[in-house]
Amino acid sequence: MSFAAGRHALAIPGPSPVPERVLNAMHRAGSDIYSGPVVENDLKLRRQLKQLAGTQANLATYIGNGHAGWEAALQNMLAPGEKALVLTSGSFGEGWAEQATAHGVDVEILDQPRDRGPLLEGLAARLAQDTAHEIRAVLVAQIDTASSIRTDIPAVRRAMGDHPALLAVDAIASIGCEEMRMDEWGVDILVGASQKGLMCAPGIALVWFSDRAAAQTRNPSPYWRWTERANGEPLWQRWGGTPPVHLIWGLNEAMDMLIETEGMAACYHRHAGLAQAVWAAFEAWGKGNPQIRCLVTEASARAHSVTAGHIPQAADLRHWCEVKAGVTLGIGLGQEPPENYLRIGHMGNVSAHNLLGVLAVMEAGMEALAIPRGTGAVEAAAKVIAELA
Ligand SMILES: *Cc1c(COP(=O)(O)O)cnc(C)c1O
Repeated sequence: MSFAAGRHALAIPGPSPVPERVLNAMHRAGSDIYSGPVVENDLKLRRQLKQLAGTQANLATYIGNGHAGWEAALQNMLAPGEKALVLTSGSFGEGWAEQATAHGVDVEILDQPRDRGPLLEGLAARLAQDTAHEIRAVLVAQIDTASSIRTDIPAVRRAMGDHPALLAVDAIASIGCEEMRMDEWGVDILVGASQKGLMCAPGIALVWFSDRAAAQTRNPSPYWRWTERANGEPLWQRWGGTPPVHLIWGLNEAMDMLIETEGMAACYHRHAGLAQAVWAAFEAWGKGNPQIRCLVTEASARAHSVTAGHIPQAADLRHWCEVKAGVTLGIGLGQEPPENYLRIGHMGNVSAHNLLGVLAVMEAGMEALAIPRGTGAVEAAAKVIAELA
């Protein structure tokens, strides 16, 4: 038997569930791109996205996914042969480093633990050694979606001291879920994508960049040049060709929901609360079975948008939840053995109802599969919601 009828729940860390308002905003035949409302929609979207990132500086847009955003940032900030330092806390930091290496960048990796935040003394020491200022950029993910480690970006900037390297941050899994104050924190390059905290379909890659980064632009091919993408006229020049009109409408609506309907502060508070509810459930399960735990031990280094956890038979549990109860959980990434890890996505358009449903279904699955665990997980999560909502 299966109880999976009804609306299927997607609890993976991207693409995240797309709200009805966003779907409906895209349900239109099309539009002229040389005049008419889409030109104004595009300008409004840019203002909203800069507000979200906490910057007055520049925003370049591309039709693409997060990997396209990585590529755009790399092409503009680093020439082949130049040196970059990458702080890796999981598979996504590793992926960006690999893409930089393929671009010809001389990549040095400062690998970090997978169960707590990065050890920034190492970064400070490495940069202090670099008196010739050969290191052109420091790359880091604000949230590494594989490990669910959250990096304190202002602390990274402080650790860089007065070394002139650019600070480039992958915020693909955090923008819209966690605070970002790009200008105040001294972030030079910020990469995002439309399909995670931004609640839209995949297809728009975002690269915000400071005036300092703009002044040091390398020599990418015209297609990737961020200055044209940020300032080009008319509209098609800002997209390197036909703009993704439907995604512009969708992302515009998502930004209205985030900034105007819910409000940024309320949205970050909701994500923090949902994350704490997940941690509370893991803690309760873990009390009866120390094999069940969040991958990241320190709460301050845990993402608010995704939680990676160790659960014996996690792959069986994922399968059970999907076929028996209509919930898809994320696969474990970057851990061995992968079948004992999973990830719960709680980014974007996620309510307390959605999340408590996911946790209760996991409880049912563990019961069905006879996975030993502590009691009271769903109650513990509900208590967090009752306190914080
Ligand atoms: C999802 C993700 C990416 C990759 O984005 P794609 O859209 O899959 O190319 C990169 N970095 C982080 C932190 C992510 O969460």
